[in-house]
Amino acid sequence: MDHCLFCKIIENRIPSRRVYQDDVCIAFLDINPVNRGHVLIVPRLHHEDLTSLPPEVAAHVASKLPALCAAVVRATGAEGFNVIVNNGKVAGQTIFHGHWHIIPRFHDDTVNWPWPQGAYFGDEIQQIGFAIEKELAALQNPESGA
Ligand code: 5GP
Ligand code: ZN
Repeated sequence: MDHCLFCKIIENRIPSRRVYQDDVCIAFLDINPVNRGHVLIVPRLHHEDLTSLPPEVAAHVASKLPALCAAVVRATGAEGFNVIVNNGKVAGQTIFHGHWHIIPRFHDDTVNWPWPQGAYFGDEIQQIGFAIEKELAALQNPESGA
């Protein structure tokens, strides 16, 4: 993808500080870190967000998370970390080549987290639960007409 910043980083047309790479994904330091040691893990395959990533690529990236997160924690002395994927502009995505953030966390850092939480009333939880199950069945079995 010619206009994609992360494709350019993957192709070494833009420099980055890589900390891991294999045939499927690369991991490099975010240029504007939330905290020192903030890493991005990026599939080599260009895709806009998680919904368009082949499951086997997602599974490969997920399999790399435990060691990569542990390495970030050990290298930074972090007390914890967040793994975040922003999907869509409204969710804070700015580079439309999907990626995971690994953000080391410290008790006195400036991150505004956790997020505000709401509640369900009446049968709302059932309604949204059924709607998600129905969509998932349709995506997994497109032939069934579910
Ligand atoms: P998003 O907001 O899409 O979830 O995350 C994009 C991330 O890419 C941001 O945290 C931003 O700091 C990082 N970023 C943007 N441009 C560059 C770059 O040229 N090099 C590196 N290493 N990170 C970048
Ligand atoms: Zn790309």
